Amino acid sequence: MPRTPPSKAKLLEIAASIPTPFHLYDAAGIRSNAKRLREAFSWNPGYREYFAVKATPTPAIINLLKREGCGVDCASFTELKLAEACGLSGEFIMFSSNMTPAPEYQLARRLGAVVNLDDVSHVDFLQDCAGVPENISMRFNPGGHFTLGNTVMGAPGEAKFGMTRPQLDEAVAALKRRGAKRFALHAFLASNTTEDAYYPTMARTLFRTARELSDKHGVEFFMVNLSGGIGIPYRPNARSADIMWIGEAVRNVYDEIIKPMGMPVRIATELGRYMTGPYGWLVTSAIHKKEIHKNYIGLDACAADLMRPAMYGAYHHITVPGKEDLPLDHVYDVVGSLCENNDKFAVDRPLPRVDTGDLVVLHDTGAHGRSMGYNYNGKLRSAEVLLEKDGSFRMIRRAETIEDYFATTNGFV
Ligand SMILES: *Cc1c(COP(=O)(O)O)cnc(C)c1O
Repeated sequence: MPRTPPSKAKLLEIAASIPTPFHLYDAAGIRSNAKRLREAFSWNPGYREYFAVKATPTPAIINLLKREGCGVDCASFTELKLAEACGLSGEFIMFSSNMTPAPEYQLARRLGAVVNLDDVSHVDFLQDCAGVPENISMRFNPGGHFTLGNTVMGAPGEAKFGMTRPQLDEAVAALKRRGAKRFALHAFLASNTTEDAYYPTMARTLFRTARELSDKHGVEFFMVNLSGGIGIPYRPNARSADIMWIGEAVRNVYDEIIKPMGMPVRIATELGRYMTGPYGWLVTSAIHKKEIHKNYIGLDACAADLMRPAMYGAYHHITVPGKEDLPLDHVYDVVGSLCENNDKFAVDRPLPRVDTGDLVVLHDTGAHGRSMGYNYNGKLRSAEVLLEKDGSFRMIRRAETIEDYFATTNGFV
């Protein structure tokens, strides 16, 4: 079930000083969720969550999670610079990139990040541009389909990420020759998964593989990274992941496979969506109603502020503050103003009667929301606001301006 947003009165209070549209984040919600995750894996002494910064690359959010003990997972030069600017370095940064340009490896090495190699060919590439570190991680792609019971959860065989099982052997041998001493293993096999069996099932594959590689090559594994992918309930009837159950289930697999090795392997996660997704809302205003072959509600936000519906047909729950108890007796397409017919936040969505001037809230935009935005049609992305438990709020990123948009041009000649 998507989380209930703050009251209409609170949203109007915020909108009085920060005009809609804006992304609103619930600081207390993010904090308590991070605490729960840490508790779920507290059985593992070195456990760390590396927040996938691409989900919400905003310093105030990264710092909030940093205070909860989280590091960050970066995949680009800019994300690494963001981590550095937030005071993160060394083993608090995972660098899980792919098709990586040399300057990114150089920066990752300078920051002491844990480099997660995406391909066996990157062993030499990394050695040549930045040198192979003593601690190094490798991304595994087992191929085929990833299934839980009879359900296909993902198709690693179709994914561009990671190395095959034989390539892992090659990579370990090559990395060893170039001075690597301790290894880590990583995989990301399914996205937005609310099946609690995902992590424990993938952990079994990773633990077994780490053990095989350790035995065969006589190397130490310092970390297994279960990466991201734990989903959130976007739809009203969807369930939340049971993170305590997941933590215990991973522990059982750890005790079975890793413990007998007598080697302390720390567990890492790189969750993005799970960390912040349910704790953000895109707060908008209805500015137009249009009745043609269908009935449309036009918002002051568009796909520039939230791209998931346009990009994947993703469902985001929509509510109308102050009209929570009214019957859902109207059916609307809720749309933005881009000159693109996929700029629809919802199609055929039952809602209460919406009037121009109403606030309209899009739920679960705390991850992969503002960060995916773009500037098509010269649309400027919205502000971000952090709401504290005591009701105080502050803008943590201003809305883009025309000056921002023009800043990359070479003047007007
Ligand atoms: C995107 C990404 C994540 C986070 O994914 P979520 O679905 O937000 O949990 C973690 N690791 C890597 C390498 C990613 O690309």
